[in-house]
Amino acid sequence: MSHVYLNGQWLPIEKAHVSVLDRGFIFGDGVYEVIPVYNRRVFALEAHLKRLDRSLAGIRLSPPLDAEQWQPIIARLVQETETDDSSIYIQITRGVAPRDHAFPANTQATVFAMAKPMTAVPEEWLSQGIKVVTHEDNRWLHCDLKTTALLANVLLRQYAVDHKAVECILIRDGFVTEGAASNIIVVHEEQLLFPPRNHLILPGITYDLVIELAKKHGIPFKEAPVTRSQLQEASELLMTSSTREIVPITEMDGKKVGAGVPGPLFRELLSLYQGLK
Ligand code: PMP
Repeated sequence: MSHVYLNGQWLPIEKAHVSVLDRGFIFGDGVYEVIPVYNRRVFALEAHLKRLDRSLAGIRLSPPLDAEQWQPIIARLVQETETDDSSIYIQITRGVAPRDHAFPANTQATVFAMAKPMTAVPEEWLSQGIKVVTHEDNRWLHCDLKTTALLANVLLRQYAVDHKAVECILIRDGFVTEGAASNIIVVHEEQLLFPPRNHLILPGITYDLVIELAKKHGIPFKEAPVTRSQLQEASELLMTSSTREIVPITEMDGKKVGAGVPGPLFRELLSLYQGLK
């Protein structure tokens, strides 16, 4: 039977409860991580834990556990889950306190972790590509922090679903930032363009790994601002995230991307990426 971890206890998920005064519930005052597990081996754990600490620092919450303390918790989650491929979800909030915006004094953080079976990427996404829509990026200016305050992302993803699309590509002041729950890579004039790592996008672990692969295998790439017209002229568009890896985008706002079929750089990068597992 699989259990979840909550504040030092191991519980069946139905028995894991947090107070209604938890600042995660009241304010979305918390951060999270999602870590993929392949064949019961945790993928890129160090990078994910590093980003977790970076997000914690960004919301001024000291890390309740260090990498060594996370290790046995994650190992137990991986072991107990029913499937060989899963994902670990970690959430840390500023804890339980009387409702007041300012930080409470001496409050313990709430620490939660669970494993969930990995849902396979649908075969037709890889063979035919996915549809996306574009939308103005109307989120706050700390998109580099992986916080649980995801309401804007939730509304933007729903906008995509309402338009029968899988993802929404966000554009801020004429430049591509990322997807509502993914990073976006644009293939323009035979080069991979990565929207720059700054406060406007989440530094994706998959995005980083694809940059490393491009470097290693001599695929031309650039980390640089990407305009809306470069996005529209793209010969290929790729969506990346830890749970979906690399997915080709073949239709955007009702128009074909490039030839309208998954392209050669997608195939090359996906096969290189799968070699990392
Ligand atoms: N940007 C956003 C807004 C996301 O939610 C995600 C998925 N966690 C990503 C990018 C991709 O990051 P990663 O490759 O680390 O999953």
